[in-house]
Amino acid sequence: MKREVYMDYAATTFVKPEVLEEMNPYFTEYFGNPSSIYYISRKTKMAIDRAREGIAEIINADKDEIFFTSGGSESDNWALKGIAMANGKKGKHIITTEIEHHAILNTCKYLEKHGFEISYLPVDEYGTVSLQELNKAIRKDTVLVSVMFANNEIGTIEPIKDIGKLCRERGMLFHTDAVQAVGNIPIDVQDMNIDLLSMSSHKFYGPKGVGVLYIRKGTKIDSLIHGGSQERGKRAGTENIAGIVGMSKALKIAAQNRDDENRRLIHLRDRLISRILKIPRSRLNGHRTNRLPGNVNVTFDFVDGEILVMTLDSMGIYASTGSACSAGAVEPSHVLTAIGLPGSSAKSSIRLTLGARTTEDDVDYVGDVLENTVSNLRKNNEKWKEEHR
Ligand SMILES: *Cc1c(COP(=O)(O)O)cnc(C)c1O
Repeated sequence: MKREVYMDYAATTFVKPEVLEEMNPYFTEYFGNPSSIYYISRKTKMAIDRAREGIAEIINADKDEIFFTSGGSESDNWALKGIAMANGKKGKHIITTEIEHHAILNTCKYLEKHGFEISYLPVDEYGTVSLQELNKAIRKDTVLVSVMFANNEIGTIEPIKDIGKLCRERGMLFHTDAVQAVGNIPIDVQDMNIDLLSMSSHKFYGPKGVGVLYIRKGTKIDSLIHGGSQERGKRAGTENIAGIVGMSKALKIAAQNRDDENRRLIHLRDRLISRILKIPRSRLNGHRTNRLPGNVNVTFDFVDGEILVMTLDSMGIYASTGSACSAGAVEPSHVLTAIGLPGSSAKSSIRLTLGARTTEDDVDYVGDVLENTVSNLRKNNEKWKEEHR
C-alpha cells in the first residue's frame, strides 16, 4: 500500500471520531427544527444552547455573544460588512493588513466599491503587524480594525492583545479572524479587548460548513443573512444543528488537549524545520518561534513550488503552495510578497502543516522525500545548473 502523509491541516482537518459520534443523533433522531415546539425540537434547541454555552466559556464570552454561521468566510464577511453598514454614518474608514485571508481582503475590495476607504497595514519580514503603523493609520473616521490572530500561510501570531488595547483606547471596534488560532492558542475576548472574532469548525477537527462570529454585547452590526428570527434575529436560516454540536465538541477537545498537543506539534514542527534547513538553498518563512505549532513554510531556491507540491502528491504527501484559496492561481502569494519575498522566491515556496495524526516518522519521511525531490527537480533547472557547473 502506498504511504500517505497529510500535511495540510491549515487547509482543513478530518473530523475526530468523538465529534462525529456526538453529531450523529442530530441527523437521524433529533432532527426537529429548533424553532418548533414539540419534543424533538426542544431537544435540538437545547443542544444548540449547550453548544453556545460551551463555546462561549472557552473564549470567555457570554453565550448571547456567540452567533453561528456557515464558517470562517461568512463570519469575516459579516463582521466587515455588518459593521460597515451599521456604522457608516460615523465613518467610512477601515484598517486591516496586507496578509489577511481572502475572506477579509476581497470583502474589503467590495466595501471599497461601495464608498469605504481601507488602509492595508504592512508587516515586517516575519509577518508581524506593527503597533506604530497601526497608530499612524488611525483617522477620525476609522470605525473598524481587522487583524488576523495568526496567519494561515506562514503561521505568524500577531500581537492581538496589544492591538485590542490600542483599539479600545482609540475608540475603534476590533475584529480578528481567529480561524487559524482557535483550538491552538488560548483566547480571552475580555482580556484581549476583542469586539468581534471569526472561527471555523473545520480547522479544529469539527465538520465543514459551520463557524461562529463572536459579537461583543452592545456592538452595532447589521445582519448579513436576512430571514427568520434565528440567532436572536441577527442571522437567519434553520440551524446546522449537527454541525453546531460537532463544532462545540471539537473545540472542547481542543481546549482540553491544547498544552500537550502543542508541545508535541512544536517538537515535530521544529524537527521538520531543522531537517529541511539542511537542504541547500532552503529558507524558513515567518518567525522561527512565534508561529503556529503546526506550521512550516519554506522556500527552495530554483524549485517551482507548484511542481514540488504536485510531485509530492504523486508520492502520497499532501502539502500546499500557500493558502488553499490561492492554489491554482498564477499570482505569487500576497503574504510572501508582503514579508518581502521577490515573486520568484514566493513561487518557490511550500507550506506543510502538521496536526493530530502527524507522527515523528511522518516528519522524517517527508524530510527525506523533500531532500531527494528538491535535488531531482533542480537537476532540470537551468539557473541551478549554471550555479553548480
Ligand atoms: C480557512 C480560513 C478562512 C475561511 O474559513 P472557511 O470556514 O473555510 O470559510 C478564513 N480565514 C482564515 C485565516 C482561514 O484559515
